[in-house]
Amino acid sequence: MAIWNLGSINIDVVYRLPHLPAPGETLAATKVTRGLGGKGANMSVAAARAAARVAHIGAVGADGGWAVDRLMEYGVDVRHVARLSGETGHAIIAVDDAGENNIILYSGANRTLADDMIAGALSSADHGDTLLMQNETNGQTEAAKIASQLGLKVVYAAAPFDADSVRVVMPYLDMLVLNAVEAAQLSDSLGAELGDLHISQIVVTRGADGCDHYDNIRKTKVHYPSVKVDPVDTTGAGDTFTGYLVAGLDRDLPTAQAIKLAMTAAAIMVTRHGTADVIPDLKDIEDFKL
Ligand code: ADP
Repeated sequence: MAIWNLGSINIDVVYRLPHLPAPGETLAATKVTRGLGGKGANMSVAAARAAARVAHIGAVGADGGWAVDRLMEYGVDVRHVARLSGETGHAIIAVDDAGENNIILYSGANRTLADDMIAGALSSADHGDTLLMQNETNGQTEAAKIASQLGLKVVYAAAPFDADSVRVVMPYLDMLVLNAVEAAQLSDSLGAELGDLHISQIVVTRGADGCDHYDNIRKTKVHYPSVKVDPVDTTGAGDTFTGYLVAGLDRDLPTAQAIKLAMTAAAIMVTRHGTADVIPDLKDIEDFKL
């Protein structure tokens, strides 16, 4: 089986600064690093590191060849990443010595995907494959409709959160993945408990408190405690979790086992600084368990 990830590709440029700049201030950075980022790319890398077959559906601008090469190096199929004119999505991240940050995000090519490009990519998918989506691109509704017609499982990690987007794609979803804040926002916005929604499976991640799995067909809710670690940087924990979860389900692991695998990967991730480049692979997970 394969995972079709309709997702953002960003270039993250991180500047280290003695303090965050005040309005009007010019400040020299002490260090700059450039990395692959965006929730979509992170999840593709995580699923590929979990040994899944992953095809990324997305777009970069004229300056994005580097990001596509990085995805390819991680084993992600990039045949359905369009190369458009204009800017690749990017994040300009300022981090000060206390670890505080400011982020300027520009979606660029991520929000200019053409429906026929998405449809063309999904026409190569097989029954039983999975469509994974987040909320940093356009095209989710179209993709979800096509995917469910083709017999794909549809998994939506609704971040950055927007209740209207969830409402629109809800009829097509097999699984919704939210963090605790997003889960509360969705519940408030719909005026309903998650266990009462017409979505078969909902997974709510709760940081160091682990996660909850709602099976709304069986009407069960199971809590999974997190794997205990000493966190140093929680960036990318949720993306690693979701990429691994979908990879586990794609190779037919029972949901409980896929969740445990995802929580182990995410726990290792929070012990590392960085994002896509430091997402653990299956060997790291084996070593961690020893
Ligand atoms: P997001 O980054 O999307 O807000 P969470 O913070 O809920 O997501 O983290 C996703 C998953 O990562 C959690 O369900 C948990 O398994 C793991 N995780 C996050 N923080 C920790 C932590 N401090 N210790 C152990 N696991 C963690």
